[in-house]
Amino acid sequence: MFRGIESQKIGHGMINGSCLCGKVKFQISGEPYSLSYCHCSRCRKAAGVFSAVLIGKAEDLLVTEGQGEIAKFKAGSDAKFERCFCKACGTSLGDMATGNEYVIAASALDDDPKIRPTLHIHTASKPDWYEIDDDLKKFEGDYIREQ
Ligand SMILES: [Zn+2]
Ligand SMILES: [Zn+2]
Repeated sequence: MFRGIESQKIGHGMINGSCLCGKVKFQISGEPYSLSYCHCSRCRKAAGVFSAVLIGKAEDLLVTEGQGEIAKFKAGSDAKFERCFCKACGTSLGDMATGNEYVIAASALDDDPKIRPTLHIHTASKPDWYEIDDDLKKFEGDYIREQ
């Protein structure tokens, strides 16, 4: 259901992204599954108070420049994702390919992904001083997408 609604709004252009210094560049083809705001403690520390994460099919993501500039950090052996960032400028890139999905930091996108945020996730981990002030759906933990 979730995917179907979003699919109707998407065109077929590439979505380009890059880091701040421009050494890392990537392209997303195909339609992202979702855009959501993640409030987990790892996003808070790595990306700011929360991060907007774009999720889609792993094979739709292509790093076109600077693969060797991407550093990876895993926050503990039980962490689901690796956190990728540019070695030169530190820009958060998200998890670029663990398993079947990419989880890209939407802040690194240079193009409009067309899709709009629909969810807040990991709200249980947000700091008390940050109030969520919109009507999007909120999940205290992960959101498991309907297939
Ligand atoms: Zn960079
Ligand atoms: Zn997060």
